[in-house]
Amino acid sequence: MTSGIRFFLLVTIIALGGCAKTVEIAPALHGPFRCENANVALDTDFAAGNIESCQAVEDSGLAIAIAPEDAPPINCSAWYAFRLTPRKAGRQTVDLQYQHCGHRYWPKISSDGENWTRVPDDAVEIGEVDGVRQARIILDLGKEPVFVAGQEIISTADYTRWIDELSQSPLVDARLLGQSAEGRDIPALTIAAPKSTAREKIVLIGRQHPPEVTGALVMMPFVETLLAGDPLAQRFRARFTTIVVPVLNPDGVDRGYWRHNIGSTDLNRDWGPFAQPETRLMDNLLSGIAAAPDEQLRLFVDFHSTQYDIFYTIPDDFPTSPPLFLKKWLDRLQQRMPDYPVNRDANHNLLQDNSKNYVHKTYGVPTMTFEVGDETDRQFIIKLAREAARTMMETLLATEENAEAE
Ligand SMILES: [Zn+2]
Repeated sequence: MTSGIRFFLLVTIIALGGCAKTVEIAPALHGPFRCENANVALDTDFAAGNIESCQAVEDSGLAIAIAPEDAPPINCSAWYAFRLTPRKAGRQTVDLQYQHCGHRYWPKISSDGENWTRVPDDAVEIGEVDGVRQARIILDLGKEPVFVAGQEIISTADYTRWIDELSQSPLVDARLLGQSAEGRDIPALTIAAPKSTAREKIVLIGRQHPPEVTGALVMMPFVETLLAGDPLAQRFRARFTTIVVPVLNPDGVDRGYWRHNIGSTDLNRDWGPFAQPETRLMDNLLSGIAAAPDEQLRLFVDFHSTQYDIFYTIPDDFPTSPPLFLKKWLDRLQQRMPDYPVNRDANHNLLQDNSKNYVHKTYGVPTMTFEVGDETDRQFIIKLAREAARTMMETLLATEENAEAE
């Protein structure tokens, strides 16, 4: 077994485990509590922890208000994450009361912040009480604290651990792309064969939208597949350099925001204006590639989540170099996964200042938003990531070097 393969298996096992360790659980009670009743105390004092407020209801329940970081209109991605520290074992009712929008994320639970499971279907009631949309979660708690969140928590600390693991490979060069408005690091990984002179570049980005965790769950094994030791990945790395910016909105991620950065901006509507420091870093990265006489951007992919799996691409009649790449890639993926309906929309939001539109319009390359469903099966996401990465590499290797736009 080559070290490359061994390394690949190592990081994949980490991915299969859900995600890297998120937070440490101290044996003592946590604080400061946001609210408590006779049975349990609630806090949000950890990365991605966020609720608006909470209060004890009678003596057995908790009512939690869920509200966005900025006033509506805002995308209805009602994130929540909190920790319950039981005072004694027993049944606990928690009502999520949505102040804006309604329920989106089915609750997940974890005792260690690392391994997460969906709360069972029969333990969640979605409805409306006195005109307020709510989700009631009924939990049978032991004596240990548990995390409850809209999705698995993948915070900036998890990205740091993931990058540290990947950086053990000589194929990976990790660096600081820059910093967010609040001073958090925005890392970038470069993947290429050692001493490579590959000048064709692909750029992958993630987490513009903080709660879109399934976008991260697909991006991580996608990137790991590019690091595999098999001949396909070796040939790919010999010709292409991949630049990965896995978490463009670290402030939003660690604050548990629904959508924005701390500048009250949806970063994926800021491509063109570049009014935010995070998107300006991407503008600098991409324009730097374009300005280098011997470098060539070939593909741009932005990872997100929505209610179902879908690939948002530019239309096939938009000229790109390489030509018709997205159609060829997704056709190949469909052939590889005949039982999976590859769902493509080439006409979604073509006028927005989003990354897909901007990067195509400015650089003439194929661009795609890779959206994974909020509740898509987690094991399937890993399979999809690997097949999507392999078919991307095959399709890129089938292109002519230095092909011009049609
Ligand atoms: Zn998104």
